[in-house]
Amino acid sequence: MTEAVLASDSTSLSTSPVITVERGQRAVFCGLTSIVWLHRKIQDAFFLVVGSRTCAHLLQSAAGVMIFAEPRFATAILQDRDLAGMADCHEELDRVVEELLARRPEIKTLFLVGSCPSEVIKLDLNNAASRLQTRHSGRVRMVAYSGSGIETTFTQGEDKCLTELVEASKHRKDQESPALIIAGTLSDIVEDQFQRMFDALGIGPIAFLPARSGDAMPRADANTKVLLAQPYLTETAHALKGQGATILNAPFPLGAEGSLLWLKAAADAFGVADTLFDEVTAAPLARARQAVSYQREKLKGKRIAFLPDSQLELPLARFLARECEMNVESITTPFHDPHIMASELELFGDHPDMIEGGDLESRLEHVRELRPDLTVCGMGIANPLEAEGLRSKWSIELIFSPIQGFDQAGDLAGLFSRPLTRAARLEV
Ligand code: SF4
Repeated sequence: MTEAVLASDSTSLSTSPVITVERGQRAVFCGLTSIVWLHRKIQDAFFLVVGSRTCAHLLQSAAGVMIFAEPRFATAILQDRDLAGMADCHEELDRVVEELLARRPEIKTLFLVGSCPSEVIKLDLNNAASRLQTRHSGRVRMVAYSGSGIETTFTQGEDKCLTELVEASKHRKDQESPALIIAGTLSDIVEDQFQRMFDALGIGPIAFLPARSGDAMPRADANTKVLLAQPYLTETAHALKGQGATILNAPFPLGAEGSLLWLKAAADAFGVADTLFDEVTAAPLARARQAVSYQREKLKGKRIAFLPDSQLELPLARFLARECEMNVESITTPFHDPHIMASELELFGDHPDMIEGGDLESRLEHVRELRPDLTVCGMGIANPLEAEGLRSKWSIELIFSPIQGFDQAGDLAGLFSRPLTRAARLEV
């Protein structure tokens, strides 16, 4: 976990609704945490963190606690002796990579992931990746990116990783660009559901970014359209646009309504007839609405607040307000991209003003004053809130769980109703 103290100021942007930028202390996991879900997704990749013992501990405990971790990540710990000179650092990194590749012939993509220590920042991992790429050409693809807590929150770690994959794909001439790229990590089960849905709509060929193997990472061109499946991909979207791709404007596929409008954005972009669209989506849409309606009974009228963590805050708030009839009382998000969120803001309409960034103490004070029924927040903040009798939901759980698409809409609502039901039982 990182705590960054930034300059304290508060300014309003000229958008409607008002989005206030607040700077201050924050408590969010760093970008290394995204390795926990990225290593599961890209099955022939290995993530080598170049960092300190703190980084190694973070990864082991995050992965060990959250999931059953296959050993496809590790930390190259820079020892004190490595700090004597940069030459030693490069030699140490080369040695670790040599040993790793000799031991693990199945690795096809090796990510060198940067971290916070100043000697790592000085190391220039991009240069190291180019040097190692030349040495291991044809054997493995080398990609470097930063997961440092100084530069990234945990979801921005994925954004940095995907941005570098997009940049690396420029040099690939061995594949056609797909018509549609779905960008953002989705669980395999959700990905398969969407693939079937796009097939039924006659949209394709499509590709997912990240793909399940390094060889299948898509390359965009001027004919490629992109549908973002995750809202924290500002730099990835920029890189894809740089390759000529068009980013489709859509809300995120959370809930029955979000999933429908997300698919509709693609259907419209590819000229799918309304009759076919309605035919393909009618049954899953009805199932999703039904599943959400069971949970709505438990969520209706309950008050919820969002502390800054994952960048999923606004799409989740929209789903909970519009489909579950919850009262969203406060939204703070670590970073707000007005372009990526344009459809969400339009759909949400009349909602509380938002804060971007957020100072930890002032946001916590705000939640204490509101005393909502549920607060969505980071793991480090949840326990103190619970101790004060405030119910909480870890936002990182929403990254690890399959929550996108029609078939997951009821489960998504259930993730919010469960802590409330549990609290009600305890009170009884
Ligand atoms: Fe801590 Fe930085 Fe390492 Fe993250 S990258 S574990 S914030 S030292």
